[in-house]
Amino acid sequence: MHCLDCRTTGSNSPCVGVCQRCGAGVCAEHARIATHSVRRGPLIGTPAEAEARTVLCPLCAATEAPTAAAPTPAP
Ligand SMILES: [Zn+2]
Ligand SMILES: [Zn+2]
Repeated sequence: MHCLDCRTTGSNSPCVGVCQRCGAGVCAEHARIATHSVRRGPLIGTPAEAEARTVLCPLCAATEAPTAAAPTPAP
């Protein structure tokens, strides 16, 4: 599968993820990672919070998660 946004500009980058909103394939350059905290743990007692992530394309990220950031390359 190829990145949808790259395809519209004429290039063919392989996608590294899939937008969780529109289902478009996104390459490393176009992927946007939004994080949100999920509550988990026992119903009674102190709940724990964990960070979950959502992959979005630039278009969906702009409308739904303006704070979503591009993934940083591994060192
Ligand atoms: Zn792309
Ligand atoms: Zn999308």
